[in-house]
Amino acid sequence: MANPDLNWSKLGFGYRETPARFVAEWVDGAWTPGELTDRSTIEIAEGAVCLHYGQQCFEGLKATRAADGRILLFRADRNAARMARSAERLLMPPVPPEMFLRAVTETVAANRDWVPPADAAGAALYVRPVLLGVGHNLGLRPAPRYHFRVFCSPVGPYFGDGFGGGIKLRVADHDRAAPRGVGQYKVGGNYAPGLLLHHQAKADGFDEVLYLDALERRYLDEAGSANVFGVAAREGQETLVTPRSESILPSITLDSLLTLATEDLGIAVERRPVLLEEVRTFREFSLTGTATVITPVASVTHQDATWTFPESPGTAARRLFDRLSAIQRGVVEDTRGWTVAV
Ligand SMILES: *Cc1c(COP(=O)(O)O)cnc(C)c1O
Repeated sequence: MANPDLNWSKLGFGYRETPARFVAEWVDGAWTPGELTDRSTIEIAEGAVCLHYGQQCFEGLKATRAADGRILLFRADRNAARMARSAERLLMPPVPPEMFLRAVTETVAANRDWVPPADAAGAALYVRPVLLGVGHNLGLRPAPRYHFRVFCSPVGPYFGDGFGGGIKLRVADHDRAAPRGVGQYKVGGNYAPGLLLHHQAKADGFDEVLYLDALERRYLDEAGSANVFGVAAREGQETLVTPRSESILPSITLDSLLTLATEDLGIAVERRPVLLEEVRTFREFSLTGTATVITPVASVTHQDATWTFPESPGTAARRLFDRLSAIQRGVVEDTRGWTVAV
């Protein structure tokens, strides 16, 4: 039963407090077993390393309600593995995958009334695991303690009313992440520098920024909170083209779309460096990630030039979106073991 007091079709993408969250601590070289709590605030030392030097990482995944009422998690094992990679890069103790999955499952189960009903388009329970370096410290050293928390919030579409209209992107004139930097890790330090660029883009009438590679500024990297892909017709073959770059976050949603494209939908896939100027050859262009799912792009603006896409939403994006949603909502059989019922 979904909570009757929420207007599911009007949820934006924002924080809404739910009753339960999971917390575990790493103290004296070991993780506590962890438990659910109703406390939505954290008390930490003023010298905590996460506050000063950004020793923290996070994840994002969704729980969706299937048509038959089950609650499904999508590829949570991949989020567990990615968070472990992020943690190791920042010299934090990785959360063991079995604890990560137990934390996510227990949190979703305890908040099951906040999972939107199956018929609420674009709505889901967003799950946010976060790992923080805490404890007293001042010098640039790893934290003496760590705090792992999983909380969740019911959300609607990330942009406006979702799949519909098509968003406007502006190419950022500053960079997000450098080659050999930490762009491929989901660490908080990658995001604060983008706030100003995003704010300025919004003020100028755009919805989101698009980052170029920081070395040559000729190739596409990704958007502020999502990967990107274009669709081109190559000798009649519909082809999904997506950037290969070491400074973008490896999206689990994109990985899933590449599989669905080749195995289920007969769409060819190219993952390679993509020149900014190649954007104008795409019939359609989209963002993809857990929060944005697939968000069609209506236009890309770089300095004085704007390219618009004839199809927004395009037919390939629509087919990919329908296929992915059908799996996530348990409408078609999941032959790949991507979904797990809570
Ligand atoms: C989380 C994130 C994505 C999307 O990854 P998913 O695994 O699909 O949710 C893409 N880009 C950035 C910068 C991200 O933080």
